[in-house]
Amino acid sequence: MRITCPICGERDRREFYYKSAAVALERPDPEAGDGVWNDYLHLRENPAGVTRELWYHETGCSAWLVVTRNTVSHEILDAVLASEARA
Ligand SMILES: [Zn+2]
Repeated sequence: MRITCPICGERDRREFYYKSAAVALERPDPEAGDGVWNDYLHLRENPAGVTRELWYHETGCSAWLVVTRNTVSHEILDAVLASEARA
């Protein structure tokens, strides 16, 4: 799989570090129960299909990217700087 970094160009995915899905999580209230905190800390969606993900160009330019990827085919549809990505 290859990712086109907006700064460095096309690179092997091993130059990048996958962080997470590119979604904002709402932090629970500090007094929320253990179940709520367990879900917040450990449960994530695992969709099949097109997703937006946060990747770090670890051995390149150190930019954070929002990568749009099909998790079934691994096709990269888009990669933009996280600072310029829209929610
Ligand atoms: Zn880069």
